Amino acid sequence: MASLSLSHINKTYPNGFQAVKDFNLEIEDKEFIIFVGPSGCGKSTTLRMIAGLEEISGGTLKIGDKVMNDVEPKDRDIAMVFQNYALYPHMTVYDNMAFGLKLRKVPKDQIDKAVREAARILDLDKLLDRKPKALSGGQRQRVAMGRAIVRNPKVFLMDEPLSNLDAKLRVQMRIEISKIHQRLGATIIYVTHDQTEAMTLGTRIVVMKDGIVQQVDTPQNLYQKPGNLFVAGFMGSPQMNFLDCVISEKGGNTVATIGNEHEVIVPAAKAKVLKDKGYIGKKVVLGIRPEDIHDSQMFLETSPSKPMNSVVKVYELLGAEVFLYFDVDGTQITARVDPRTTAKTGDPIRFAFDMEKAHFFDKETELTIT
Ligand code: ATP
Repeated sequence: MASLSLSHINKTYPNGFQAVKDFNLEIEDKEFIIFVGPSGCGKSTTLRMIAGLEEISGGTLKIGDKVMNDVEPKDRDIAMVFQNYALYPHMTVYDNMAFGLKLRKVPKDQIDKAVREAARILDLDKLLDRKPKALSGGQRQRVAMGRAIVRNPKVFLMDEPLSNLDAKLRVQMRIEISKIHQRLGATIIYVTHDQTEAMTLGTRIVVMKDGIVQQVDTPQNLYQKPGNLFVAGFMGSPQMNFLDCVISEKGGNTVATIGNEHEVIVPAAKAKVLKDKGYIGKKVVLGIRPEDIHDSQMFLETSPSKPMNSVVKVYELLGAEVFLYFDVDGTQITARVDPRTTAKTGDPIRFAFDMEKAHFFDKETELTIT
C-alpha cells in the first residue's frame, strides 16, 4: 500500500521564512496528485519534505502506516524525477537506468529484468545501447523516468519533469506519463505550475498559494466549483472574468448590476443562495468564464437578461476557437466564442452571459458564495 498522510505539515526555513503552513492531505494508493500554484507557493518545498530532501519543521508525514519524518531519503521507498534530469553522458541508456540498482548491489539478473521491463513500459527497448546525446529531449526524459521506474518505488515524486521540453513534446510526454501511471498503478505526486498539465494528469489537484492549501479536489470540481476567487482565477485559460456588481431585487427578479448600465438576471437557485446568505443590496464579485459569454443570435434571443453592448478591442482566431476582448464597465473581459462569429476588431458587439454558469464571490473574504 502506497498511501500517504500529511498532517499539519509546516516548513520554516532557517532564515525564518514560513514556506508551508498547516498542510493536510490524505493520499490514497494509486492516486495521481498534482501540486499546482504560482511560483513560490511552496509546491517544491512540500514535495522535497516528502522526499526527505528538506527537513519537516512541524507535523507528521506517513507513508503507509509508518511515520517518515526522520527516515533517510533512501529508506523512504520513493523515487524522484526532476526537471533537469541529468543523465550520465558517457553511459548508455541501459547503464543509466541500471546505475542506481548497481549502487545498491542488486544482483545482475534482477537489474536486467527491471531495466528491460521499464524499457518496455517506456518504449525504450530499441534505444538501450544509445548514449544520451543521441536521444531526443522526450526520449531523455523517458530514460529519467526509467531510472525511477526500475527501483519499483512505492511513490513517484515528480518536480516539473516536463518544463525543459518544447510545447509539442510536453503534450506528447503528458500523454506518456498518463499511460505510465495506468500501467504501473503507482502513486504519483507531481508538481507543476502549468494548469493544463494539472487538469489533464491529476486524479486530484492541490491548489496552493503563499504556502497555504486553497482547495483539494478533482480537476472537474475545481473548474466547476472553485472554492474561492483565487482558485477560480488560477484554473482555466484564458482565466475567468471578474466583475464587481451589486445584487438587488427588481420586478420579481434578483439582478446583478454591473456599473451603471449592465443588469443581468440571476437564475433562481443562485438567487436563493445570495438572498439566504444576506447579499441583497451588497457588492459582490461576479465570475464568468470566457466560454460562458456568447454573441450568437440564438443565445441572445433565449437569454433571460437583456443583451449587453460593447466594442471588440481585439479579435484572435486560434483555429477552432475565437477569443474576443472587450470592456464591460471599464474592465477588459475575454470571451471564447464560436469561430463562426461575424465580430471583428473595432466592431460593436452584443453579448450575454450564461448566468447558469456564473459564480459569485464575497468581496472581502473572496470565498465563493454560489
Ligand atoms: P516554483 O514554481 O517557482 O518552483 P514553488 O511553489 O515550488 O515555486 P518553493 O520552491 O517551494 O516554491 O518555495 C517556496 C518559498 O520558499 C519561496 O518563497 C522560496 O523563495 C522560499 N524558499 C525556498 N527555499 C528556501 C530556502 N532554502 N531558504 C529560504 N527560503 C526558501
